[in-house]
Amino acid sequence: MTSHPWPVIGHAWAVLNLDQAATEYRPAHAYLISGPAHIGKTTLARTLAMALNCEADARPCGQCRSCKLIASGKHPDVQLIEPDGAHLKIDQVRALQHDLALSPNEGRFRVAIFNPFEVATTEAQNALLKTLEEPPDYAVLMVVTADPELLLPTIVSRCQLIALRPLTITQVRQALTTTWRIENDRANLLAHLSGGRLGWAVTAASDNSILDTRARRLDDLIVLLKSNRGARFAYAEAITRKEDHARDAIDLWRTWWRDVMLAASGSNAELVNVDRAAQIQSLATHLDVGQASAAAEACGRALWQIDRNAVPRLVVEVLLLDFPHLASI
Ligand SMILES: [Zn+2]
Repeated sequence: MTSHPWPVIGHAWAVLNLDQAATEYRPAHAYLISGPAHIGKTTLARTLAMALNCEADARPCGQCRSCKLIASGKHPDVQLIEPDGAHLKIDQVRALQHDLALSPNEGRFRVAIFNPFEVATTEAQNALLKTLEEPPDYAVLMVVTADPELLLPTIVSRCQLIALRPLTITQVRQALTTTWRIENDRANLLAHLSGGRLGWAVTAASDNSILDTRARRLDDLIVLLKSNRGARFAYAEAITRKEDHARDAIDLWRTWWRDVMLAASGSNAELVNVDRAAQIQSLATHLDVGQASAAAEACGRALWQIDRNAVPRLVVEVLLLDFPHLASI
């Protein structure tokens, strides 16, 4: 019983814990993997599924039939259960329960990965609870979420908790340059912007529209600071027409205001938006630390409200009115 290095970057403690469980074929029946979007939660869950069902001696090998089927999402005993529309529904949980009643087809374990589980309806969560109370020996349930606070406490209490934290900027930069062969300057910018979310950085490296959208939204923010209420309301209406656009923009603006706050306080701490350092320094001369800090906090509040199903347009309207009015920048 040996193990093979996991194809996971960072998260050393979680890998050590899960690798040991897989090596001994003694996984917990349920794990709750939490952490911000795009930091590797699903990769970790899928790698555990590989390590449990791999056919090689040193697991997970990544090469055997089982590992390849899991990597391509086609293993009959490993299911990724994602929302059907906006929610993860009770019918999906029931279908899984039907499958779990049967022992594995090919592997040693049946693994179900729910991602993201915070969008599960209360009925679906209650249904899963029954399985969490009496799981078959060969079942491993992996509940993946960005925010455990949004789950029923009874779900959380029945899972072994694996809380993933963002990687360091250095870890992301190194992974980008060595594993993905991205040139240094670009890797450095992406690492800073990633907030430690390697998955985001890798996606942004291959999809230019992500950095283009970011640039546009930062430019929009500067225009908004010079704009009156009417223009701010119009922007709130426009950006909330598509799902997730507002959330992404607010997330970005929060990093921006934190940078302005650092600049206004004369701190030497590294900025997130390193490519916009001059603009941030210049803006910081027009307001004080308190204003920048209040704007960053308003962004955090807005994200919290959107995640709890507040009406996005109203949230963005309030947020934009909370931003300072700087006519002369
Ligand atoms: Zn294998």
